[in-house]
Amino acid sequence: MDLHDSPEDASFRAEARQWLEANLTGEFADARGLGRAGKQHEGRELRTAWERKLGAEGWTCVGWPVEYGGRGAPMSQQVIWNEEYVRADAPARINVMGEGLLGPTLIAYGTDEQKRRFLPAICDGTDLWCQGYSEPDAGSDLANVQARAVRDGDEWVITGQKVWTSYAQWADWCFVVCRTDPTTVRHKGLSYLLVPMRQRGIEVRPIRQVTGTSEFNEVFFDGARTAADLVVGGVGDGWRVALATLAFERGVGLLGDVVGFRRELDQLLELARKSGKAADPVLRQRLADAWARLYILRLNTLRSLTGVDGPVAPPEASIAKLYWAQWHRDLGELAMDLVGTEATLTDGASAARPPGDGTPAGYELGDLQRIFLFSRADTIYGGSNEIQRNIIGERVLGLPPEPKATTAKGDRSS
Ligand SMILES: Cc1cc2nc3c(=O)[nH]c(=O)nc-3n(C[C@H](O)[C@H](O)[C@H](O)COP(=O)(O)OP(=O)(O)OC[C@H]3O[C@@H](n4cnc5c(N)ncnc54)[C@H](O)[C@@H]3O)c2cc1C
Repeated sequence: MDLHDSPEDASFRAEARQWLEANLTGEFADARGLGRAGKQHEGRELRTAWERKLGAEGWTCVGWPVEYGGRGAPMSQQVIWNEEYVRADAPARINVMGEGLLGPTLIAYGTDEQKRRFLPAICDGTDLWCQGYSEPDAGSDLANVQARAVRDGDEWVITGQKVWTSYAQWADWCFVVCRTDPTTVRHKGLSYLLVPMRQRGIEVRPIRQVTGTSEFNEVFFDGARTAADLVVGGVGDGWRVALATLAFERGVGLLGDVVGFRRELDQLLELARKSGKAADPVLRQRLADAWARLYILRLNTLRSLTGVDGPVAPPEASIAKLYWAQWHRDLGELAMDLVGTEATLTDGASAARPPGDGTPAGYELGDLQRIFLFSRADTIYGGSNEIQRNIIGERVLGLPPEPKATTAKGDRSS
């Protein structure tokens, strides 16, 4: 593993850095830092305009093949782009589901017509997507999906409920896993449908989170419709396609996250120095531990990406997910211990507003409080810690699988 940029990568890094510096100015100067952990609801309009600017100047989908609107950038340059993006404090991307999940899935499994129709609008930032997998009884146990789709002439009619659907309140489209064969159970008889969000049969209800904001939602499908040909990978083949999407869920973005994590750790170090708490031997030890584990995370992520030219294989992805989620949760706890009793106070306890479009709910949190609260979700989404341990146990260490009688869960692989 070589930790230095090759000459081509160094010149790509310089180009990316220059572009970001030159363009996070003017109207986009205010976009810096928008949408970070616990603040995903922020700055919709500005972030949408930024997404379109990135698209217009060829900075979305950098790893996609050129024929589909990407740059065909190798893995090393995808990593560099993510690192530079976070280092420049550019706003959190709002089409991660389209660019990171659906796009690669369509490139692998979509029909030519589906690719022609959907990929350009992801590249240029006009179509925002959300992921309709989880349901009240299907999270880790994704094969238990109950939402149904029934053929009616040239359309599918969808009925059921999805939950925890990030960005559904902004999305134009949703990729929905549903049961198209009611006689089947578990993995069989599922299909992967592309469904327009702006229609009468869909109701999006924001979920108010402990951060006081609502960036994910319940989504109710009550006779929602989509065209018959908007099935990816064929009717009944949804399980295979859904798992392929999960394999794209994490990878190159993680090294960008490491840069963001480092920034958070630096905030804690500064607070420790200024407040005099750096003199406390226990806090010092925890800060040093956070620094060392973050360094290990970076090296391990680089190692797992070395030589990889597609999605990171699930066992490696599971090790990385488990490691960074735990690291971030520990950092959140350390932040609260450094802040001390003030960490339990919020600013402005005005009357709580009803959850609506993702605006804050009547109290303001500080950055470190947000990091602490949002990091609780890190060990859940994208596959919980327990599920990652199951995958590592069964697929890496070759331990016996979970007994079938107690659970058939554990399908969510990343
Ligand atoms: C911030 C956030 C954003 C999200 N965004 C989306 C989204 O956009 N789209 C979407 O579809 N979903 C989304 N999710 C949902 C996420 O994928 C699920 O929360 C996750 O898969 C866990 O499912 P669950 O919440 O139903 O918990 P459950 O699966 O019910 O698990 C409950 C507990 O039981 C444990 N458990 C479950 N099965 C096993 C097992 N076999 N062995 C050991 N322990 C087990 C779990 O680890 C957990 O602690 C999001 C979640 C969060 C927190």
